Amino acid sequence: MQIHRLKLSGFKSFVEPAELRIEPGLTGVVGPNGCGKSNLLEAIRWVMGETSAKSLRSGGMEDVIFAGTSTRPPRDFAEVVLHASDDRDEELVVTRRIERGAGSAYRVNGRDVRAKDVALTFADAATGAHSPALVSQGKIAQVIAAKPAERRAMLEEAAGIAGLHVRRKDAESK
Ligand code: ATP
Ligand code: MG
Repeated sequence: MQIHRLKLSGFKSFVEPAELRIEPGLTGVVGPNGCGKSNLLEAIRWVMGETSAKSLRSGGMEDVIFAGTSTRPPRDFAEVVLHASDDRDEELVVTRRIERGAGSAYRVNGRDVRAKDVALTFADAATGAHSPALVSQGKIAQVIAAKPAERRAMLEEAAGIAGLHVRRKDAESK
């Protein structure tokens, strides 16, 4: 899977709508401390269905919405749109939006979908919110300190078979 484009609006420090093109190959993000580099990576994880506020350095899910500054009022929603192409070169447009008091809503190629559908889409492509392709600060130490079961989950995610467990659980509960 290749990410081509990322659009952010009201997400953390990206208060004004911003659009980034991601070219093939290695992408580096540079800038002074606090300019939003980590927020960008978190936006990618968030649109892929991240459900842990802690791993987004937030107290609660709504904390990803621009909180306002001394000169700017807070926003009441955050939205991230990710454009990618899958291995068969099919275009994939995933949108996640959160409104204060209303929770998150997802769309894939313009259709309303469940959080689970988004998670499955990325799990099958061996990427996603917990993908080993997204290495956050402190993650290397976490891999070393992980318990065997946690390390196995990381390997399954990398191998692209994590989605099978979700489907098995789903089938067993029916
Ligand atoms: P460093 O080089 O130190 O790692 P960075 O470029 O990774 O910095 P980030 O951590 O991405 O910077 O951005 C931090 C900035 O984002 C802080 O100024 C913080 O106030 C701002 N920020 C985070 N969440 C919100 C929010 N909900 N509303 C407004 N600003 C926010
Ligand atoms: Mg950072």
